[in-house]
Amino acid sequence: MKIEGGCYCGGLRYAAEGDPMFQGQCHCRECQYISGGSPNVIIAMPAAGFSYTRGKPSAFARDDLDNPVTREFCAHCGTHILARSPALPGALILKVGTLDDPKLYSGPQMAIFGIDRQSFHRVPEGVPLFERGPGSPTLD
Ligand SMILES: [Zn+2]
Ligand SMILES: [Zn+2]
Repeated sequence: MKIEGGCYCGGLRYAAEGDPMFQGQCHCRECQYISGGSPNVIIAMPAAGFSYTRGKPSAFARDDLDNPVTREFCAHCGTHILARSPALPGALILKVGTLDDPKLYSGPQMAIFGIDRQSFHRVPEGVPLFERGPGSPTLD
């Protein structure tokens, strides 16, 4: 599968090739800032098949956490493109909203970081909701 996408202003473009590792939605507090308040919808792709084809992203990682994710975004328009997580080496976590064709995302296989879920967040019927990352205890 080849996914192409970019930011809102077009300054950043990327291509991601390979088999998607998983599709999900993340309810963590950090994602709420970035999404505007909803869970982020994400698709994990192999880092080896990813490259920026236009522009260079800015990057941010919190320095008050032991193993922070690094978030890459367009400094011009503010669109968040992806996160790199120490918990998922070799993977990139793409924001579905940046895909040229968001319909490539067929829905979440899992919902993660339910510990931070807000009462107005919805998890589709039958989709497991993990307390934190995949493999952590599930919540109702
Ligand atoms: Zn941009
Ligand atoms: Zn998150």
